[in-house]
Amino acid sequence: MRLVILGATGQVGWQLVRQAPPSIEVIPVARQGTAVTLDLEDLDAIPQLLKTFRPDVVINAAAYTAVDQAEQEPERAQRINGTAVGRLAETMADLGGLLIHYSTDYVFAGTQSLPYRETDPPAPLNAYGYSKWLGEQAIAIHNPAHLILRTSWVYDLRGKNFLRTMARLAQTRPLVRVVADQIGTPTAAPFIARVTYQLLERWQADRSLSGLYHLTPRGSTSWYGFAAKIFDHLRTQGWAVAALEAISSSEYPTLAQRPAFSTLNCQKLEAVLGTPFPPWEVVLEPLLNQLDPQSVL
Ligand code: NDP
Repeated sequence: MRLVILGATGQVGWQLVRQAPPSIEVIPVARQGTAVTLDLEDLDAIPQLLKTFRPDVVINAAAYTAVDQAEQEPERAQRINGTAVGRLAETMADLGGLLIHYSTDYVFAGTQSLPYRETDPPAPLNAYGYSKWLGEQAIAIHNPAHLILRTSWVYDLRGKNFLRTMARLAQTRPLVRVVADQIGTPTAAPFIARVTYQLLERWQADRSLSGLYHLTPRGSTSWYGFAAKIFDHLRTQGWAVAALEAISSSEYPTLAQRPAFSTLNCQKLEAVLGTPFPPWEVVLEPLLNQLDPQSVL
């Protein structure tokens, strides 16, 4: 099996490259820093690359992920997260391969009180969420064999993410104020990669497997709750950490509005894989244990 991984330098893409089973031939692709490069804004380069390598599977972990910046350049976000995904889907439909693609909890408005299911209607509040929804729709239109995996609040020990930002602020500020009225589920990039390969294995056994799935650990918390876990860990390791204060979203204005509640119900994917996902705290723990607080400064 030949697998092209797009966004190979991002949080999820990097873990996908690392965790690829040895039986799979992997071609990592990024905008720069890989032997094969691709800028998704160069729409014609997408079919060119895929028709050169003719992969059995493409995993698209590349995306415009700057949620606030997307408010200022929504067309660019739509080009990368929507139009380019359409070209990918169209080409994979031609080639007859599988497209695995990631989407986001931010396709939802956050007005529900129960975790969102795949059948719940998207109603994005911000430009990033809207652009990702366009990508989902583009895949549905061209309809290659596909698996769309919506995830949320992605972090890892590398990259730009909440875990690393909080670990830095905990050591460099006297007080850190974090919003407590946005509820969702922190999801580690290594967990996403692991589940993706489990699902790919299922697909190899049953090629009729297709569609939209939610992929996060179980449970939920607020950004404040997530920060508190990180701070507690650093404190128990003997580090002097900042005071942590819970605030409301109105006290921390951002360009993009975010959903107040975007927990995803992952029962559909758990049923396909035949196993319940662990709670988010259990997924976080090994990463906290590997975290070198000085590496984030
Ligand atoms: P990252 O921001 O860590 O990585 C995104 C990758 O996309 C980077 O390698 C980046 O390259 C690449 N990229 C951006 N623009 C282009 C472009 N024009 N052409 C080619 N590559 C490009 O994202 P994550 O790993 O966190 O996200 C993976 C997936 O999960 C995405 O689909 C995202 O929407 C989704 N997701 C992410 C969440 C999060 O909290 N991060 C939450 C929910 C869903 P470069 O390094 O060169 O900029």
